[in-house]
Amino acid sequence: MTDSKIMDKLVSLCKRRGFIFQSSDIYGGLEATYDYGPLGVELKNNVKQLWWRDVVTSRTDVVGMDAAIFMNSKVWEASGHVSEFHDPMVDCKNCKARFRADHIDLEKNCPTCGVKEWTDARQFNLMLKTHYGPSEDSSSVVYLRPETAQGIFVNFANAVTTSRAKLPFGIAQIGKAFRNEITTGNFLFRSREFEQMEMEFFVKPDETSEWLEYWSNARLDWYKSLGVTEKKLKLRLHEDNELAHYAAACFDVEYEFPFGWSELEGIADRGSYDLDQHAQHSGKKLTWFDSKTNEHITPAVVEASAGVDRTVLTILVDAYHEEEVKGEQRVVLKLNPKVAPITVAVFPLVNRDGMPEIAEKIIDDLKGDFAAFFDAGGSIGRRYRRQDEAGTPYGVTVDSDTLTDQTVTVRERDSMAQERVAMDQLSSYFRDKLR
Ligand SMILES: [Zn+2]
Repeated sequence: MTDSKIMDKLVSLCKRRGFIFQSSDIYGGLEATYDYGPLGVELKNNVKQLWWRDVVTSRTDVVGMDAAIFMNSKVWEASGHVSEFHDPMVDCKNCKARFRADHIDLEKNCPTCGVKEWTDARQFNLMLKTHYGPSEDSSSVVYLRPETAQGIFVNFANAVTTSRAKLPFGIAQIGKAFRNEITTGNFLFRSREFEQMEMEFFVKPDETSEWLEYWSNARLDWYKSLGVTEKKLKLRLHEDNELAHYAAACFDVEYEFPFGWSELEGIADRGSYDLDQHAQHSGKKLTWFDSKTNEHITPAVVEASAGVDRTVLTILVDAYHEEEVKGEQRVVLKLNPKVAPITVAVFPLVNRDGMPEIAEKIIDDLKGDFAAFFDAGGSIGRRYRRQDEAGTPYGVTVDSDTLTDQTVTVRERDSMAQERVAMDQLSSYFRDKLR
């Protein structure tokens, strides 16, 4: 199976099973914009909840927040995004195709039409603009935020005062961000609307390198904890020429996608750049008072910036398997139970003899603790295959034996092994399995 085929097959499975749809599909779609369906939104929510738990609530040194998407335009002037946040763009004069100048070889012919007639490269700002309020003049211009981080920096003083935080401490948030990328592609990998999980960790300036190392390793380990194949994950130190305008050093967590090793998350030493810029532009003091030394200091920042959609794509690509079972092909998503949209699917073997009612009762009992799903449509083999494609780790079948001995068949997705379990033991059975 070639690598591009894997992506095509994954896109089609995501549509077929209700994970991810093309946005505005009935109107022909909108390029590189996607909607999450019933299974996709559960997977995505599981990713966000695990991140929030592991980065915020299970720690004593990180607090959360949720800033508005719209911000005063002065934020983006101060942060450098108005003047610096652009990519070089070239057009093919012959076929009008547009490329990022740093992504293609301008000595060669146009990959679309084969002619070599390039325009000069020019800078294209990646922020999406709109007008705020009823007038459409330059004074009403606002930007759709290109990163959630600035919402944290401009709230630094608020957070310090209200949570009485002591260095080192972090502020985290999850939210949508927007970038008018010149080229998009690889499904969820690069789109113009996406969701970020960002954490800004404020430290004493001489402690940045140790915290950069700490967070780089912690973030790499987090992807492993989601069940992503370890040998397809690595940390990569940025070369000087690829650093963003605000960063002094940066590690990427990379994953080996079918289209090559690519960035999953950036862990960057932003120094005191952002707080310095906002202090200067706003005229407000953005420092932290060290009561031990009686000094006001501007903390440095180590940022961990992850993409929700990229994480979802990684989990899906990594879980996708095709296997041959008794001469038949089986497609299975081997999702870690922690992120799987459905944990247990419950099937009545046939739609009579009270089996559907027993299955419904099992769902009621499990529902509070597990994501349980009822499926009575089609042959049992077909229902198993559907749940394999949905990545559901366990299937429970109610059959004629259940009527006499109150046991059910539990099938494990990856091994396809089956065992009989007493109906009233199911809750503790699954709790043990998922521990
Ligand atoms: Zn061309």
